[in-house]
Amino acid sequence: NRYHLFDPENDRRARVRRDELGRIREGLARNEFRLHYQPKVDMRKGMVIGAEALIRWQHPERGMVEPAEFIPVAEDTGLILQLGQWVLQQACRQLTVWAGRPETEHLTLAVNVSARQFSRASFVEEVLAVVDELGVKPDRLKLELTESIMADDVEEIIAKMTTLKAQGVGFSLDDFGTGYSSLSYLKRLPLDQLKIDQSFVRDILTDSNDAAISRTVVALAGSLGLAVIAEGVETEAQREFLARNHCHSWQGYLLSKPIPAADFEQLVRDYNQG
Ligand code: C2E
Ligand code: MG
Ligand code: MG
Repeated sequence: NRYHLFDPENDRRARVRRDELGRIREGLARNEFRLHYQPKVDMRKGMVIGAEALIRWQHPERGMVEPAEFIPVAEDTGLILQLGQWVLQQACRQLTVWAGRPETEHLTLAVNVSARQFSRASFVEEVLAVVDELGVKPDRLKLELTESIMADDVEEIIAKMTTLKAQGVGFSLDDFGTGYSSLSYLKRLPLDQLKIDQSFVRDILTDSNDAAISRTVVALAGSLGLAVIAEGVETEAQREFLARNHCHSWQGYLLSKPIPAADFEQLVRDYNQG
């Protein structure tokens, strides 16, 4: 006394997802993933102060695959845990290389963490194990979290963040203002920085709402004692607008897309000495 509906579209999507999952697993096994690095600039220092690590998949046939094509599948299927672990290890390896050279010694590296990764009971131990094993200075590592972590028990989130923070690991809230943020949670999380989302930066000069939201994020960060950084800065005019409105850190195509480590290091040498 029941019936099943067969939806061919659903079925097709499930199959596509299963296939993609298999391919991501293969990609991991074949070492096809890469980290690219996008510089973060502090305008007042006139320096590149760090980078955000962004994953890429160098696929033998498909070429360079963007994260939008595989991160959602990885998140749905739980494979993000393995992928995230790889990202963390790779990022920490990069930090140890940078630590060994005077021109890169000061750089921090931000790693994106999915809610699913962060919600794991063992997340804190896993991060600290990698940091410890590779001998990374914990204050060089930043974790970018999104508002979606707040679906979890807030006490637990605070406890995890506090433990990592006590070791020096920094936290930035990515995509801020695009999800269901609760300002009362925000106040309680031991964050270091808010990120102005690129969807607000894009039309910051032409859309008065986006301009108002950006200013509000800057003000909110200021009154909560947090730093603020803008992402997706593509033009000099956007950068100037942000500076006028007291946001002095930024990242975006105006300086550079995410690029391989060697190119990034060259950019740091040129920019920070020029
Ligand atoms: P996100 O963390 O918000 O990263 C910012 C995205 O904006 C990146 O896209 C970056 O390449 C892009 N971007 C930077 N500057 C500009 C600009 O000036 N203009 C425009 N139009 N775009 C800009 P990407 O690399 O495709 O990454 C997309 C998203 O995928 C990331 O958003 C993040 O949520 C996720 N992601 C990337 N790498 C990882 C990772 O290692 N782990 C996890 N969990 N997620 C990742
Ligand atoms: Mg990010
Ligand atoms: Mg973002």
